[in-house]
Amino acid sequence: MCRKWGRETQRFIGYDEWITIRHLPIFGRKVYLKIRQRRTQCLECDNEPTTTERYP
Ligand SMILES: [Zn+2]
Repeated sequence: MCRKWGRETQRFIGYDEWITIRHLPIFGRKVYLKIRQRRTQCLECDNEPTTTERYP
């Protein structure tokens, strides 16, 4: 989603570097999520801003 207007972005640029996120423990074991956020670009806004994917 475009961070300016919340519309869906139109152009896929690429992936960011890997990041590791601490998740909730499952059965007493530590759980980490390793992800790469997608970068996209909005072609409808001025200056065509880029946006990094967000997660709940
Ligand atoms: Zn936009």
